[in-house]
Amino acid sequence: MARPTQARLNLDALRHNVKLAQSLAPQSRLMAVVKANAYGHGALAMASALEPYSDAMAVACIEEALELRESGIKAPLLLLEGPFEPAELAVAAANNFWLMIDNERQLKWLEQARLTAALHCWLKIDTGMHRLGFAPQRCAELFHHLSNMPQHRGSPVLCTHFASADEVDPRGTEQQLACFASACAGLKAERSAANSPGLLAWPQSHYEWVRPGYMLWGNSPFGSRSQVNADQLRPVMTLESAIISLRDVPSGSAVGYGGSWVAQRPSRIATVAIGYGDGYPRNAMNGTPVLVKGQRAALAGRVSMDMITVDVSDIDAVNIGDPVTLWGEGLPIAEVAEHAATIGYELLTRMPLRTPRVVTGSSTTGAPNN
Ligand SMILES: *Cc1c(COP(=O)(O)O)cnc(C)c1O
Repeated sequence: MARPTQARLNLDALRHNVKLAQSLAPQSRLMAVVKANAYGHGALAMASALEPYSDAMAVACIEEALELRESGIKAPLLLLEGPFEPAELAVAAANNFWLMIDNERQLKWLEQARLTAALHCWLKIDTGMHRLGFAPQRCAELFHHLSNMPQHRGSPVLCTHFASADEVDPRGTEQQLACFASACAGLKAERSAANSPGLLAWPQSHYEWVRPGYMLWGNSPFGSRSQVNADQLRPVMTLESAIISLRDVPSGSAVGYGGSWVAQRPSRIATVAIGYGDGYPRNAMNGTPVLVKGQRAALAGRVSMDMITVDVSDIDAVNIGDPVTLWGEGLPIAEVAEHAATIGYELLTRMPLRTPRVVTGSSTTGAPNN
């Protein structure tokens, strides 16, 4: 029998989530963000399923964009980090890739480029993240400059990125929105600010384009904090395995590498065929929730490369071969992430190639475009 470890990907959940995004921002165009291998889900399968619902898609860099284009994705693809070298401009023009222009160096490359077709760009404005983008005072000048440049097609979309739209304290996002509004004031421009938390919780951030990534995979960017729209999301990835060994240990027994977990009572320990080599975080603490036959049990002992051990003492009639869910349906990834001192974004994007992705759900044909 094959090793039972897999990441099951539910395309029906994906479609539910993207339709939720559309219904929350009905006036906006949707740019599905599929960078980093679609947050570990598999870029091509996810982009193919999302394409009918997306006006454009976004990736981090030209290598990710070329992979999708060469596999048949037709939608415009925005390179979120912009070009890293001038040679990318001709490749982008030939492939209908859009460029994020966020610094002077990239602007110069565009000014000096000799292109067979004009490029469409987004202009990144730094409203408070202080990572990428031009100062807001330069927004109008640069907007007109790009709009009139022969190498540029149309007017640039004005874009900014939130630093803390997922947090309880609204002040940072309010300040960024005010800064963005004043930077764009009076310009006949399309604008874009909303990432997933912006789309879900900040309707005033929707503007002409929304850019959701994480929420499309059905996980809440607010972690385990309840949020009315995020609560409707359905996880796309369910990480699954099965029990491959069972034993009863007396009170006082240490389990796993380093003996970091010690039985406080006579305990039943299940060994599950998944470990950090499969993307399950090694720093998940004792007590991290695991679903065994749909019931909650707790991680007991250090995560190995290929296995974990789980305390199943309180679960009835456990057998070898019983199914185990590490995150996904029935167990939000945010909860697991919190037990591993990280966020679901990181757990997903770190999923290794080794773990088979198995796509389920009905076919994408006939999907509507809005
Ligand atoms: C990754 C990214 C997004 C998507 O963010 P999520 O929180 O995953 O929705 C949007 N915009 C930019 C510029 C990004 O880099």
